[in-house]
Amino acid sequence: METTQAISPLGGSNEPAIETHDLARIYRRGLQSVHALDGVNLEIGAGQFVAIKGRSGSGKTTLLNCISGLDQPTAGTVHVYGQEIGRWPESRRTTWRREQVGFIFQSLGLLPVLSAYENVELVLRLNSVGGKQRHDATVEALELVGLTKWIDHRPYELSGGQQQRVAIARALASSPRLLIADEPTGNLDSKTAHSILALFRSIVRERNVTMLMATHDTLADDYVDRIINLSDGHIISS
Ligand code: ADP
Ligand code: MG
Repeated sequence: METTQAISPLGGSNEPAIETHDLARIYRRGLQSVHALDGVNLEIGAGQFVAIKGRSGSGKTTLLNCISGLDQPTAGTVHVYGQEIGRWPESRRTTWRREQVGFIFQSLGLLPVLSAYENVELVLRLNSVGGKQRHDATVEALELVGLTKWIDHRPYELSGGQQQRVAIARALASSPRLLIADEPTGNLDSKTAHSILALFRSIVRERNVTMLMATHDTLADDYVDRIINLSDGHIISS
């Protein structure tokens, strides 16, 4: 089914980047039902850097997965840049994710045998981006995260913070409009975490992306535009 709503042009309307209505995700575990999300209503403006906070099990990852098209809601709607992605089949969500969403996880998922350059470039290969454009986008993304000198190094030759920067470059290389980070500073010392958070903030400002970050790190509070607190699948403050 084609979307009936037009995607707003960049900087065009005040349409929110993300909108959820009565979003619910119920996991079935044997005879039990786990209400991971239980009626989440949310509106997030384009270009915002938003922290999703709450203790372990509160639904942060489930919310990110439903908004980024990794998972499907059980009920309710999810609009991302005007498109209702919640009911799309997996194949359509996969294509959409590749084009629109950059992911940064706590477990970085870098391939150990590939250099920083190759790890970033691989995503663009999967997106069928051609030779020179692929090279330029890879170099630019690594430059943006301050890794130009480390471009030929493999993950094990890099510090934790540098590896996280490779993962960020990889997420940015295909110029997504939405950045999703799940506990991205969970494995970092506080000094490195500060520098990664500052990098996120400057990326959101300079690249006009919307960024959602699940975290229980209080360090994040000073860097984000907004904090959404979850508890038992509900928003308790935002
Ligand atoms: P958080 O990221 O805040 O720690 P999650 O979104 O991972 O929370 O989990 C929310 C709730 O959903 C938890 O009770 C968790 O146990 C449950 N849950 C998450 N994923 C699954 C799954 N695949 N199957 C069953 N229950 C799940
Ligand atoms: Mg989680």
